[in-house]
Amino acid sequence: VKILAIESSCDETAAAVVVNGREALSNVISSQIDLHTLYGGVVPEIASRKHIENINYVIEEALEKAGSTLDDIDAIGVTYGPGLVGALLVGVAEAKAISFAKNIPLVGVHHIEGHICANYVENKELEPPFICLVVSGGHTHLVKVEDYGKYTILGKTRDDAAGEAFDKVARAIGLGYPGGPKIDKISKEGNPHAYEFPRAKITDNAYDFSFSGLKSSVLNQINMAEMKKEKIVPADIAASFQNAVVDTLLTHAMMAVKESGMNKLAIAGGVASNTAIRAAFEQKCKEENIEFYHPSPILCTDNAVMIGSAAYYEYINGKRDGWDLNAIPNLKLGER
Ligand code: ATP
Ligand code: MG
Ligand code: FE
Repeated sequence: VKILAIESSCDETAAAVVVNGREALSNVISSQIDLHTLYGGVVPEIASRKHIENINYVIEEALEKAGSTLDDIDAIGVTYGPGLVGALLVGVAEAKAISFAKNIPLVGVHHIEGHICANYVENKELEPPFICLVVSGGHTHLVKVEDYGKYTILGKTRDDAAGEAFDKVARAIGLGYPGGPKIDKISKEGNPHAYEFPRAKITDNAYDFSFSGLKSSVLNQINMAEMKKEKIVPADIAASFQNAVVDTLLTHAMMAVKESGMNKLAIAGGVASNTAIRAAFEQKCKEENIEFYHPSPILCTDNAVMIGSAAYYEYINGKRDGWDLNAIPNLKLGER
């Protein structure tokens, strides 16, 4: 089964051709990051407009690189939520138009399910059930992947997403947008124990996360230093912040692995490309004899390969969408 996948939920216009959910024949990503950096974050109207300008070229290139034409595509997979409504609509309208014109089945995909499925592409032996920690710009979900397309959310963030916290802290220490990769880089020169930032614990669901307290604590530290006319060391702030995030994510993920009796753990989403997170998870899983999976960085951040993988499993489960498929900005995982 050959799927043409389209992703436009945020600031990446992406298309890919994916075979049987596991093999990427192409992976084209047109990022708008430079454009949004000017404003310190994603501007929805600009994102939508850019998607419209780029989407046809991105799809053509994905088909061309895969050595395919629309005539040998079996289904079209497209992200229909969650994300920015205007951005999502561009991909959904495009997918519906191609599907209608060429009479190709249409499959709507949940963006976060896509992030999880990125793991299938580079880990051919990975099969459910497993625990997946999704850490992205807008989500922090601890998920039990019961089967293909079947998810139970064990815990999620009560406030900021992990990626959001990275981006906000980066802005506060003057690193600019997007902050995650910059914090990752600068932290290598910093002392992770320079500051003792808080690790939030949620009492009524130990699997839930909270990052706003950590973020505030970092901001307070910076403001206090400013008042006392002391110099902060950005690398120390970054490394100490990152260390707190790594700690929290690792503790939660390990708890889920142990309590579920599963021996497999995967991570997904843009923040999963963080080198400190990967190293800490790798080491802990080795110690505890847990199989650890992660996509390569390019499949952690937004791409269409992951959407093609998720679409494949939905497709073989019989999911088809009609012309009423619409963008759903706050679509929940496991909902239709
Ligand atoms: P969502 O998937 O929740 O809708 P999104 O699609 O915007 O949000 P992703 O593309 O999955 O998010 O990830 C982007 C986020 O990942 C940004 O917050 C970015 O700062 C963060 N990120 C990317 N690389 C790294 C890194 N090396 N370390 C930490 N964070 C990172
Ligand atoms: Mg993005
Ligand atoms: Fe994403």
